[in-house]
Amino acid sequence: MKVLIIGAGIIGAACARSLARRGATVTVVDRGAVASGTSAACEGNLLVSDKAPGVELELAKYSLELWGSLRDELAAEIGTAFASIEYERKGGVVVASDEPGAEALARFADSQRLAGVDARQLSATEARVLEPELSASIASAVYYPEDAQVQPTIATEALLASARAAGAQVVADTSVTGALRERDGRLVGVTTSNGSIAADHVIVAAGPWSGDVARSLGATLYVGPRKGLLLVMARMPQRIWHKVYDTSYVGAVQSDERDLQTSTVIESTASGTVLIGSSRQNVGFDGSIDVAVLREMAAKAIRLMPFLRDASVIRAYGGFRPFSRDHLPVIGPDPDVAGLWYATGHEGAGIGLALGTAELLAATLVGESPRLSLDPFAPGRASLRGTA
Ligand SMILES: Cc1cc2nc3c(=O)[nH]c(=O)nc-3n(C[C@H](O)[C@H](O)[C@H](O)COP(=O)(O)OP(=O)(O)OC[C@H]3O[C@@H](n4cnc5c(N)ncnc54)[C@H](O)[C@@H]3O)c2cc1C
Repeated sequence: MKVLIIGAGIIGAACARSLARRGATVTVVDRGAVASGTSAACEGNLLVSDKAPGVELELAKYSLELWGSLRDELAAEIGTAFASIEYERKGGVVVASDEPGAEALARFADSQRLAGVDARQLSATEARVLEPELSASIASAVYYPEDAQVQPTIATEALLASARAAGAQVVADTSVTGALRERDGRLVGVTTSNGSIAADHVIVAAGPWSGDVARSLGATLYVGPRKGLLLVMARMPQRIWHKVYDTSYVGAVQSDERDLQTSTVIESTASGTVLIGSSRQNVGFDGSIDVAVLREMAAKAIRLMPFLRDASVIRAYGGFRPFSRDHLPVIGPDPDVAGLWYATGHEGAGIGLALGTAELLAATLVGESPRLSLDPFAPGRASLRGTA
């Protein structure tokens, strides 16, 4: 089976590995370099803490399980000389700043516990034992030991290296421009800026550009960009031990607001820098860095961890989350075009959800039964129809 994957971000890379390991002949094509899209313009959190009970949480739990064993699998597949993916099961601390927030957070954690998430209620004092730099004025927190982190760019490259070791080919600097179709309409490959590529199946994993790529192949899919900015603080001695965020982050993840939203997310990286996020804005592919947005993010982070007032910012960057109208990923076959598949629309959770997504799609494509049903993620679902 020949499979062409459009997009060499974390999703395309994970799909390539899952399919190549099942014996498919895989080609990955990207208009730029490997990991030149959102997967290199994000954070690397692998979270269950921000997900309400439901199908996305189940996908997140499945993916987290796969991330937990990936480091050892990669060592066997590509050797230990490859750069570390910096996987760390560091846990998350979600903080409520006031009493109403504390009640809402406790209710949310109760519902997650019923869905099998390890969510431990903490008093303000207990939270400050885990994170001594938290503000003295917080109301309460919940600790999620299962939350983890990776370096997303290296993880993308490592997944592709593993796919290559299993026979996949990666073609960079080549834009997909159109479809190759049979008389009956079946997609049998694509045209590109460097000639055409034939395939039995084509998977669109083009992140926030997936809607445009689908259109170029004669299909309709609403997946577009939702911009996010991040601040990077200079390396510092370790002072933040978990992923720390405030309750407004969960609301922002689920929200449909077009206007700017900022919520506080703080995490240290393996190199010692600290990332402060994040913003959400539906402003198309406007990549400008707005200092007013950065200022708002910094002010909120300082409220949560006052010592950050004296920390130095070294840079800011931003990316475009692949946004789908109902906030669920789009995984599975196009309802109208035979031979066309999608693995996209993961919005702010594509790193976390990548491995589960890839396993479900690859299993379905080769005729195995996937561990979870793809029905809730079906590209033809009503909530995605007619919104292109
Ligand atoms: C600020 C920010 C913070 C985030 N933090 C997290 C986090 O902590 N945890 C998490 O799980 N997720 C996070 N995300 C979301 C995550 O980054 C994305 O969900 C994920 O990277 C999407 O991966 P992808 O492979 O679908 O897309 P991408 O990485 O964008 O890859 C798509 C690729 O398709 C290529 N392409 C596009 N058009 C064409 C074409 N015509 N022909 C060929 N190639 C094409 C592009 O060049 C690109 O390389 C964050 C996002 C942002 C913006």
